[in-house]
Amino acid sequence: MTPAQNNRLRRVAVISVHTSPLAQPGTGDAGGMNVYVLQSALQLARRGVEVEIFTRATSSSDEPVVEAAPGVLVRNVVAGPFEGLDKHDLPTQLCAFTAGVLREEAHHEPGHYDLVHSHYWLSGQVGWLARDRWGVPLVHTAHTLAAVKNAALAEGDTPEPVARQIGEQQVVAEADRLVTNTADEAGQLVDIYGADPNRIDVVAPGADLTRYRPGDRAAARAELGLDPHELIVTFVGRIQPLKAPDVLLRAAAALSERDPELPLRVVVVGGPSGTGLERPDSLIELAATLGIAARVTFLPPQPPDRLAQVYRASDVVAVPSYSESFGLVALEAQACGTPVVAADVGGLGVAVSGGETGLLVPGHRTDDWAAALGSLLRDPDRLAEMARNAPKHAANFSWEHTADGLLESYRRAVAGYRVNTELTARRGRGPWKLRRLGSVRA
Ligand code: UDP
Repeated sequence: MTPAQNNRLRRVAVISVHTSPLAQPGTGDAGGMNVYVLQSALQLARRGVEVEIFTRATSSSDEPVVEAAPGVLVRNVVAGPFEGLDKHDLPTQLCAFTAGVLREEAHHEPGHYDLVHSHYWLSGQVGWLARDRWGVPLVHTAHTLAAVKNAALAEGDTPEPVARQIGEQQVVAEADRLVTNTADEAGQLVDIYGADPNRIDVVAPGADLTRYRPGDRAAARAELGLDPHELIVTFVGRIQPLKAPDVLLRAAAALSERDPELPLRVVVVGGPSGTGLERPDSLIELAATLGIAARVTFLPPQPPDRLAQVYRASDVVAVPSYSESFGLVALEAQACGTPVVAADVGGLGVAVSGGETGLLVPGHRTDDWAAALGSLLRDPDRLAEMARNAPKHAANFSWEHTADGLLESYRRAVAGYRVNTELTARRGRGPWKLRRLGSVRA
């Protein structure tokens, strides 16, 4: 009997095709998913489950295998050119990538992996085949969904292609279990993608609470060269239309116009990504056009310890995204004792406790955002109370909790696997029906 059949997990193959857990998040294709994959792997390894993460090599200097920590290996699979392959062209490399994953497994004794966990739909396609070849369950986390993203596009943003939603739908149909960040996301999988609600596990992501914790604001500002007396509102994340840093700049401009004495500073941390890549300086240009260039400080992507100082240095962190499956930045900021003003979309309504640890703003109108930010910045007592509440709320979300939830999902996947295999053998897997792709704008 293999360990998987025995319900004891020894080793998990994690698939993260399009972005490496070792990449610096906050620019290009690297963001919350990278942090999620690495942090959950570290926690699983601490619980005695080895994790091997397969990702695409993006540099000729990438070693084939890197030990990220004891029990966590990152395998850099060569599939396509190292540099210059656009994320939208990655589907062309899925065959090569899958071949790399299957060949690696073939070097080991049968039963080397007890389970496959895929992140994002591209990885789901790879995990699906690996699952069938290895005879182990597939757990899939979508992270974002094309249909949901397309329903909340920023003006001028490019819709996700129909092919992606078809690919997502295939993975949803094939995966033994699906993991979502929130109950709302589980509902979307059921309503839009036709997922079986009994195969979904809601597991909230977390923040590294040992790193992201309250600290001395004055010291943080001194370290970052920021003025000790200004009111600082910070945006952290990839610079792309979906993340809507322009909404913050417009609100800041409106606030400054109405109240020129308000000592406001906007700090923007991150690098261009996705549909922001073709004009990397567009946000700098917007600040100049709005007449607030002198009030905006741009910082490149920051490593975690320095990012914690950025959060501590800020009076408010703004997360104006049009769509957000959770919003790790909101959690991390609160863990550092900084209130968050966030768009009331996706997981942000879970990540932020509206009225207690920050404000949830419906929509993206400049006036609403200026009013929300202004109401906090002009009310130091309320801001201080929210700052006190914020770390308590963030303490509900840790990577330890996430790993516990994932392990539970893995156990269910393993326990249900034999039953599924028997059912599948009787009924066959297909042909399954595609749901109407009603919410996709082509
Ligand atoms: N991040 C970082 N340095 C930066 C900007 C972002 O390490 O300069 C990390 C941040 O700590 C967070 C992640 O990138 O963990 C962004 O995750 P989030 O869920 O907020 O957004 P996503 O990238 O998933 O859309």
